[in-house]
Amino acid sequence: MKVEKDAILTCSNCGIEGPHELLYLSQHLCASRCVNCGTTRVYSEHIYSEYARDLAERTTHLPGRVAGDMLRHPTQIVKWPFKALRKPFGLLREVTQVTAFEQSHNKAPTPGRLIR
Ligand SMILES: [Zn+2]
Repeated sequence: MKVEKDAILTCSNCGIEGPHELLYLSQHLCASRCVNCGTTRVYSEHIYSEYARDLAERTTHLPGRVAGDMLRHPTQIVKWPFKALRKPFGLLREVTQVTAFEQSHNKAPTPGRLIR
């Protein structure tokens, strides 16, 4: 996964042309967030599933049971036994970033038009 922080886009909510944060998972753009007004657009219906797939593509150390838990209970991933993973802090930071996109999207009173 990758978070691009330097993208300059025009926000369809506030109309400001300015920096957006872009969340990429499995080489696909999954979400964008306007730094000016905080409007988040999620281009994937299952952002956690996308993240799980992205993660699975990168690690062969993840036990299948854990990966299954992630898909069934995506919000529980913060409770994972991170010590079982090779880069626990990097992963935790990623999960925090993914969650930030997901939560700011859910908090939006009027979710933006989904681009598919
Ligand atoms: Zn905006």
